[in-house]
Amino acid sequence: MSQSLPIYLADEQATEALGGAVAVCVVPGLVIFLEGDLGAGKTTLVRGLLRALGDSGPVKSPTYTLVELHAISGLDLYHFDFYRFNEPEEFLDAGLEECFDKRHVCLVEWPQRAAAYLPAADLLIRLEISGEGRSATISALGEGGRQCLKRLTSAAGISSGLPPPA
Ligand code: ADP
Ligand code: MG
Repeated sequence: MSQSLPIYLADEQATEALGGAVAVCVVPGLVIFLEGDLGAGKTTLVRGLLRALGDSGPVKSPTYTLVELHAISGLDLYHFDFYRFNEPEEFLDAGLEECFDKRHVCLVEWPQRAAAYLPAADLLIRLEISGEGRSATISALGEGGRQCLKRLTSAAGISSGLPPPA
């Protein structure tokens, strides 16, 4: 059974803070899918996560490069963005399969564009534009994801919430 947690993110800082909260449960082998339209805040969330792990360098969106590797805190984090794929087979052509390895952490924007070639995710984070802010829903898709969600819900500053009335 999957479990999910809805969260309202009032501004960019809140999206970064959610990324920071997710950082507490990052372990080698974790796969996180980030879904949502252009501008929904996926890269912002990844930036918050990487910063919380101690990355002080620029966090470039991998929209053009497909993948950016961040080696921090003893972890190899691969940040993907498959927005530009016209067909899922481009994932294979780009030779990205080997990045999905139990030793690595994989954060994937636009996972649906590589579809069947990706392994199952532990966590699915959906972001949507909602008024001035964003709505996020975090779903745990496996045991690793459930453990992560449990830690997240008990982490300071993260509480379930609905957007304020318009
Ligand atoms: P994506 O990677 O989903 O295309 P980005 O992370 O690049 O989106 O974010 C797009 C814009 O949304 C950025 O200008 C960012 O500052 C803004 N943004 C992120 N989170 C929020 C939020 N919770 N409320 C308002 N703006 C946000
Ligand atoms: Mg992005």
